[in-house]
Amino acid sequence: MSLHDDALALAPDLVRLRHDLHRFPELGLALPRTQERVLQALDGLPLEVSQGSALSSVTAVLRGGRPGPVVLLRGDMDALPVAEKAPLPFAADNGAMHACGHDLHTTMLAGAAHLLAARREQLHDDVVFMFQPGEEGWDGAGAMLAEGVLDAAGRRPVAAYALHVSSAMPHGEFSSRRGPILAASAALNVTVHGSGGHGSAPHRAKDPIPAACEMVNALQTMVTRRFDVFDPVVITVGLLQAGTQRNVIPETARFEATVRTFSAEAQSRVADTTVELVRAIAAAHGLRAEVEFIPGYPVTETDAAETDFLADTVRNVFGEQRYQPMPNPITGAEDFSRVLDAVPGSFAFLGAAPKGTDPENLPPNHSPYAEFDDGAALYAELADRRLAA
Ligand SMILES: [Zn+2]
Repeated sequence: MSLHDDALALAPDLVRLRHDLHRFPELGLALPRTQERVLQALDGLPLEVSQGSALSSVTAVLRGGRPGPVVLLRGDMDALPVAEKAPLPFAADNGAMHACGHDLHTTMLAGAAHLLAARREQLHDDVVFMFQPGEEGWDGAGAMLAEGVLDAAGRRPVAAYALHVSSAMPHGEFSSRRGPILAASAALNVTVHGSGGHGSAPHRAKDPIPAACEMVNALQTMVTRRFDVFDPVVITVGLLQAGTQRNVIPETARFEATVRTFSAEAQSRVADTTVELVRAIAAAHGLRAEVEFIPGYPVTETDAAETDFLADTVRNVFGEQRYQPMPNPITGAEDFSRVLDAVPGSFAFLGAAPKGTDPENLPPNHSPYAEFDDGAALYAELADRRLAA
């Protein structure tokens, strides 16, 4: 029996686990129930299991029966603060929702642990299973790295892999790319300090609103004039606040932007240029700007050889047509970037659009459907084949 056949046999259990995780989503770094469910799902397997202290992570090490290196597989486990509206029998009703499909990732990784544990004797040594809380902006990966997940097997992994479902891709299709696959993220927070007054007499005040508006526009011009079009930068101001009523000039105006880049060089340069630009515009108007540039996750960058290996594995296991190279990176960000900064590896998307639907017409990453067995099989195949390579 192939790993894929074993995975098919495991599918009903995986579906049950996933429905249960979906029914009780948890947010951030503390996922006590999810952690408990994962521990139950791994119970009885020949694993060295440990739990995080600063977060409810689960790290499990499977020792193979043959000599070889270490490979790490990661599944994230946290949900989003979105009230579920999907009419599903296993829909959540606690105000949170697995709207990004991390319930699927957790389930597939637990499935891979079962598949690999069953062939432990033939395995060319160790697999680290990284069940991670807090991907959605909490840097759970950074926290697990700080708690030593990369040394869980006693030796550093030679490769690390993670999967992410996507309802924007056809059902069952796997996709990845060499190099940058997801953006680096950062936050830009600006407060323009002026002095208030009557709207009828702006010359007696220092109006922060026109300056803030100028900054919002100038940031877009800056992106097109100061950055290479082939190393793109995205800046979106999503919050703009000032004033209380039409005839009062306020003391301050405030805006917040998200910044996305695809190289370490652009990320470091955009930090300097945005701060410089905002301060200079404020100064030009006799105002003062308080500027915060807060780096988030780094660029998620896959290793070329590991991505080729992942693509070959998908083609060998599932067939040629199941792998599609991604032409461009995605502007979302991922804390698996922290792992890929430390260990070569790859990251792939798994199409989870419901069978027979057009992914173009679905809400992004909202899908209740996916091929758990294929995801679990791919995780297991990657570890098995990479260890034997
Ligand atoms: Zn996600």
